[in-house]
Parts: sequence; structure tokens; C-alpha cells
Amino acid sequence: MQHVYDYLIVGAGLAGEAAAQAIRGADDQGTIGMLGDEAHPPYDRPPLSKALWKDGKEDDIWRPIAKARATVQLGRRARTIDRAAHVVHDDAGDTWQYKKLLLATGGTPRTLPFGEGFIYLRTYDDYKRLRAAAKPGARIAVIGGGFIGSEIAAAMAINGCKTTMLFPGNAIGARAYPAALAAAITDYYRERGVDVRSGTTATGGRADGDGAELVLSDGSTLRADTVVAGLGIVPNVQLAQAAGLQLDQGGIAVDEHLQTSDPDIYAAGDVAAFPAPALERRVRVEHENAAATMGEHAGLCMTGRNAPYDELPFFYSDLFDLGYEAVGILDARLETVEQWVTPFREGVVYYLDGGRVRGVLLWNTWGQVDAARALIAAPGPFTAATVRGRLPVAG
Ligand SMILES: Cc1cc2nc3c(=O)[nH]c(=O)nc-3n(C[C@H](O)[C@H](O)[C@H](O)COP(=O)(O)OP(=O)(O)OC[C@H]3O[C@@H](n4cnc5c(N)ncnc54)[C@H](O)[C@@H]3O)c2cc1C
Repeated sequence: MQHVYDYLIVGAGLAGEAAAQAIRGADDQGTIGMLGDEAHPPYDRPPLSKALWKDGKEDDIWRPIAKARATVQLGRRARTIDRAAHVVHDDAGDTWQYKKLLLATGGTPRTLPFGEGFIYLRTYDDYKRLRAAAKPGARIAVIGGGFIGSEIAAAMAINGCKTTMLFPGNAIGARAYPAALAAAITDYYRERGVDVRSGTTATGGRADGDGAELVLSDGSTLRADTVVAGLGIVPNVQLAQAAGLQLDQGGIAVDEHLQTSDPDIYAAGDVAAFPAPALERRVRVEHENAAATMGEHAGLCMTGRNAPYDELPFFYSDLFDLGYEAVGILDARLETVEQWVTPFREGVVYYLDGGRVRGVLLWNTWGQVDAARALIAAPGPFTAATVRGRLPVAG
């Protein structure tokens, strides 16, 4: 079957949905087609590891895609792009002609080379599997101590599961937070009942009829009813790569108009590497805010509007009752300057590099994202002494 659209969006996720809404807002008549390989229409992913384990409702995660009056084809995977013919081929043998194409294909969880049956939390279906397994008292092994792993471990513990966390570093979030904060978070997880095994990885394991058995790097074994891993994602660049589009930072390279090296093809969200003038480099981030705003700008640019993307996206997370927002680069290898109202409970961490502020962590500190962005954009030069106190901290 042949389909013909003015605008074609591959990927029915957050960036794709935001683009569809922006296109519809700017072009009332244009036809919009959307291909998504999941069985579900676009939804918010962050609640899958946070709100839905507290008081959040599943009904609230769905995006209002109907408003965009797009034709949404679910359960269908785009396989190849014929750039010369402006046609996408899908896995059912259909062709999708476009004038402008958006690649909003997100990423796929990194997996372990063993342990078929382990859960990698990325989709609503993954969440449903974990939800079915996470009964009070269930033994849940969480592999990974980064953003997703630490959120999942907190969610499991909140829901009464016997939770064990495994990761190679010496503390939760050690790659992102200053050492003392990472150590305090790790202590807090232990206080909340999580068996945190820092410096320990799973080197093997398999699911069996009675759950799963993991072989650990210290030579011991760990039995669990369910194993769930958060090991990061690999951006879905296969379509772009096969079509010869320029790649960067592991993603699809775009300019400030979210245009790839082919002027009729755009990219947005987790898969796109975009120029961030405030950081003086191209970056690729995996943030909800970036997917929403990049999708919106890409949609506008696809309609011919001049809507350059110059935002520095922010990220947020919830770990038990600790929460934060963050902007820029959170890399513990940079010089970090901590400004606490209450140590490790409320404050700001600045990440410095070459006299510039490259990142700001707003720990239980709210309403400062724009001020943090302005600080990162400021030429400086800054030192630990001059940056401290730049952002007000309630207290
Ligand atoms: C559990 C979880 C918690 C998170 N928490 C936070 C948080 O607290 N804060 C935050 O800022 N961010 C968070 N994120 C990250 C945030 O959800 C992502 O940055 C955002 O969803 C990216 O949107 P996207 O549209 O780029 O990609 P996705 O949401 O991954 O959507 C891409 C879609 O494209 C589909 N697709 C891929 N290839 C094809 C193809 N060839 N054909 C058809 N369809 C295809 C995929 O299956 C997917 O449905 C979280 C993510 C997860 C998984």
C-alpha cells in the first residue's frame, strides 16, 4: 500500500507527538503521517519509573495526539529511507511518501549478554511486566546505579519489594554527583531498606522457573524473583545511518533548525545531536524536556517557520522523597562547587570547567532552571569562590 503525506514522522514517542502538534498549529491543512513500532500511541515515559509507583494514574500518561489530526500507524516499523524518492519503506511492505520527514526514533535499552527474560524498562509494556512482578515482598534485583536504575530501585522499595541494587561504581550516581552527595544518597537508600551492593556487577545469570539466579563479580550468587536493568540506551540511528545521514555523539547530527545533512529530513529527541551554543558544542541528551521542545521546534521548522532551537534542556528525577532538576553537563570529573542549605537535602551544585559553568544541579531547589541556564550561558570566567552563591537557595 502507498501512503502520501506532507509531513511524515517516524517514531510515535514524545518528540514525534510534540512535532505533530507544532505542525498542526502552524499548518492547518497539511497531512501528517506518524509511524510507531510500539502498540501504543505516544505517552510520557518518566512516570513509568516514578509517578506510577506512587500516586500517579496510568490514564494520565497518554499524550493528546488526537488534537494533531495525524494518521497514526502503530505496530509498524520504518525500515529504510529512499532519500531521492522521498519515500520510507516499512516492515509491512508499505511505502510512505513525504515532503518533510522527522526521525524521532529515540533509543533502545542496552542489554546484558545473558539473562533472557530480564526487564529493561523503556516502554509501557516493560512497565506492565515490572508492575505484575513487583508485589510486596518480591525479591527484585536492579542492575545499574545511574538515573533509571536508582529510580527503579526507589520505586521497588516504596512498593514493599526486597530490593537489591548492583552497580560497578562506589556509590549511586557517582558519575554525576560530587562524591559526598553520591555517598549520602547511597546511605539514604540503605536507610530506606535497599540492599545496595556498590562495586558489584552481575557477570552472568539466567531466568528459571523460580525467578532468576545472578552470578556476581565477587563470586557469590543472588536469587531474585525478577531482574530489572537500567544500563542506558543506544540511540536508534540505523535508519539515518543506512540513508547516509551525518551522525555525531552517537546520534543524528542536526543544525539549529533540527535539520539533518538532508534538508528535507529532520531529527529530534533522544536520537538527535544538536548544537548547544551555551556549552560551545553539539550535545545529545536523553531528557523529556529536550524531546518536547526539540520536537516542537522541528515541527515548526518543517512547516517553513524560522524556529531555531537554542534551548538548553533540563532534566529531573525523583529518588524516594529527594528530587532535583538539572541543566547542562553533570559530570563528577569536572570541578564541583557545593552550596548547601541542608547538607545533601537542599542546595545547588555547580560544575565548572575552564572558567565556565557547564552544569547546575538544583537539589530539592525549585524555580531556578532559567537562572541556571543563564549562568551556563554567561562567559565568566568563574572560579569556585565567584560562582558560590550565584543562585539563591531557599532556606
Ligand atoms: C523509565 C524512564 C524514565 C525517565 N525519566 C525521565 C526523567 O525523570 N526526566 C527526564 O528528563 N527524562 C526521563 N526519561 C527520558 C525521556 O522519557 C526521554 O528522553 C524521551 O522519552 C525521549 O523521547 P523521544 O521521542 O526522543 O524517544 P522515545 O520516547 O523513545 O520515542 C521513540 C519512539 O520511536 C519508536 N521507533 C524507533 N524506531 C522506529 C522505527 N524505525 N519505526 C517506527 N518507530 C520507531 C520507538 O519504539 C519509540 O516508541 C525517562 C525515560 C524512561 C524510559
